[in-house]
Amino acid sequence: MANKPLNDRDGFIWMNGKMVPWREANLHFLTHGLHYGTAVFEGDRAYDGHIFKSREHSERLLKSANIIHLDVEFTVDQIEDAKHEILKANNLKDAYVRVLAWRGSGTTFGIDPTPTTPQIGIAAWDMGKYFDPKMLETGISLGTSKWAKPAPHTAPTAAKTSSLYNLSAIAKVEAIKAGFTDALMYDHEGYIAESTGANLFVIKDGVLITPIADRFLNGLTRQTVIQIAKDLGIEVVERRIKPEEMNGFDEVFLTGTAAEVTAVGQIDGYNYQVGPVTRKLRQAYAEFARTPVKKAA
Ligand code: PMP
Repeated sequence: MANKPLNDRDGFIWMNGKMVPWREANLHFLTHGLHYGTAVFEGDRAYDGHIFKSREHSERLLKSANIIHLDVEFTVDQIEDAKHEILKANNLKDAYVRVLAWRGSGTTFGIDPTPTTPQIGIAAWDMGKYFDPKMLETGISLGTSKWAKPAPHTAPTAAKTSSLYNLSAIAKVEAIKAGFTDALMYDHEGYIAESTGANLFVIKDGVLITPIADRFLNGLTRQTVIQIAKDLGIEVVERRIKPEEMNGFDEVFLTGTAAEVTAVGQIDGYNYQVGPVTRKLRQAYAEFARTPVKKAA
C-alpha cells in the first residue's frame, strides 16, 4: 500500500464538503490552480489521533488564501471538522494531513482568476518519516542551491502558496542529482534561509541560532522548537546567518511538520555531529507533539 502511487489507494478524500472515494478525487484539465499555481496548502501531522497545532494550520491556510486573494468558502471551524472527519473515514491515527485550496475552472482562461470557483480538498495518509529514518543518526546532507529564495516584495513569501514550491522542487532535484539529500537555499540578500521545505537551526557554542523568518515561512514547528528551547534554558538568537559561518557550526538541524526535527550531518563540504542540543530538542519536540492539548472547559 505504502508504495502505491498516491492516486491509486483506498479510502476517502474530502472535497468541497463531501467525502469522495479516493480514486475519484480528480480535477479537470482546465483548472486555474494547475496551470498558474494559484493555490495554497497546509501539511499537518496527526499523532495518535490528535492533529498537532491543527487550528493554527487552518488559520494559516486562510491567511495564505487571503494573501493570494482566494476566497475559501469554508471557515476554520469547518476545515477543522473536515480534517477530523477525514482521519476517521480513513481509520488513521498517525498521519500526514494535506489541505489544499485552489482556483478551479472559470468561464475564461486568462490570468484573471476572478471568474474561477474556489475549491478545497483534504487528504490524509500514513506518511511515516519525511526523510529516510536510516539518516537519523548521521544526519541528512544539504547542498547549497544556486537558486535564491525570492524577496518578500517579489513573491508572496508569507503565504504557503503552491507557486513558491516550483523553486523548491527545482532546487531539490538539483541537490539530489549532486548527491545530497536536500538543498539549502539562500535568501535574496545571500544569507542562509532554509531548505526546500523546512526551517533551519544551527548551534554554535551552545547557542541556538536561526534566521529571522521575515522572508520565508515562519514554520509552526520553528516557533514550537524556539519555545521548547527557551523552556529548557537554551539561549535562542534569531539573526541573519552568513554562508561564511558554515565552517563554524557545531550542530545543524531542520524543522517542519513533515521533517519534525531532522539532524543535518553535512552542508556542501562541511560535516557536523548529530550533537547533544539537536538530540535533546528532537526528543522534546517528539514528546510535545504527541501530547494532546487539553481543551478549555
Ligand atoms: N519552510 C517551508 C518552505 C516549508 O514548506 C515548511 C513546511 N510547511 C516549513 C518551512 C515549516 O513549516 P511548518 O513547521 O509550519 O510545517
